[in-house]
Amino acid sequence: MIDPFGRKISYLRVSVTDRCDFRCVYCMAEDMTFLPKAEVLSLEELDRLCSAFVRLGVRKLRLTGGEPLVRRNIMSLVRNLGRHLGTGALDELTLTTNGSQLAKYAGELRAAGVKRVNVSIDTLDAAKFTAITRWGKLEQVLDGVFAAKAAGLQVKINAVALKGVNDDEFDRMLAWCGEHGFEMTIIEVMPMGDIGPQRVDQYLPLSLVRADLAKRWTLEDTDYQTGGPARYVTVRETGRRLGFITPLTHNFCESCNRVRLTCTGTLFMCLGQEDAADLRAPLRASIDDALLDGAIGEAIARKPKGHDFIIDRRHQTPAVARHMSVTGG
Ligand code: SAM
Ligand code: SF4
Repeated sequence: MIDPFGRKISYLRVSVTDRCDFRCVYCMAEDMTFLPKAEVLSLEELDRLCSAFVRLGVRKLRLTGGEPLVRRNIMSLVRNLGRHLGTGALDELTLTTNGSQLAKYAGELRAAGVKRVNVSIDTLDAAKFTAITRWGKLEQVLDGVFAAKAAGLQVKINAVALKGVNDDEFDRMLAWCGEHGFEMTIIEVMPMGDIGPQRVDQYLPLSLVRADLAKRWTLEDTDYQTGGPARYVTVRETGRRLGFITPLTHNFCESCNRVRLTCTGTLFMCLGQEDAADLRAPLRASIDDALLDGAIGEAIARKPKGHDFIIDRRHQTPAVARHMSVTGG
């Protein structure tokens, strides 16, 4: 799959549910309305869709959400998709999770062929953690993180930078990640979905975070790339990688290798654009994949060049109306 700008599409992110057991302040409103279950693809349908993408050239699959591990019977999907690792059709099957259910599933994930997980933790302060996630408990998430480590999964910690909330914590988090052998990525808050408080109050440019960290840590540039939006440095003092995802201060679209599928079978060709393709109709129209393959091909042929996120006082409405939980980041 090659898009009109010559980019090879080899990475599919799949939001397996829009539901979540947390309500992070930058991601969801407290009183979110979720999709009626009837609109959501079954796990068998998700498997068929993901497998079609693998057949068409996707080499990396990431399950996300909402919270992927709160979807009932999710491990059956993970195990089924794991078969593509066995055949060599897929290089990597991975997951982005809030960690709340990791203690329960870490061993099974590893057994299904998952080698790495991204866990979202914005703070190591328990009270702040509950304030940010509204419903989360840090202790439960840390139990999950250490269960993942004990099961042999590599862990990357994702932290969203929030002005006046966790900007004083990155030193501590970086040291903690170094101590336990975790990589870390800091993410700029993106203007997605109506969440109540004004985005402009949450937005902290990572250029400032990086400049501040560089006063105390030796951040060495690397040419390590994943084809994704993160730019990596190596922290000399810990020997671990630190990534910065900067959609607002650095445009990363030129190397984009990914598309995103929602739990209703809608394909978004760009995180920051509204254009989408419905794959549920062709999926359900026939048991043969010809219609589906055609619809995927058409969608890739209109993948846009890039996005145009802006957060400032003149742009108070979200750049993209859907919440991050629809596509899973
Ligand atoms: N529930 C899982 C989790 O929290 O890791 C997976 C889904 S969550 C939508 C994926 C990632 O998107 C998380 O790291 C989260 O912090 C991030 N995220 C959510 N809303 C965001 C926003 N508006 N801007 C930037 N990152 C956001
Ligand atoms: Fe749930 Fe993840 Fe969104 Fe937090 S960031 S509300 S954990 S989907």
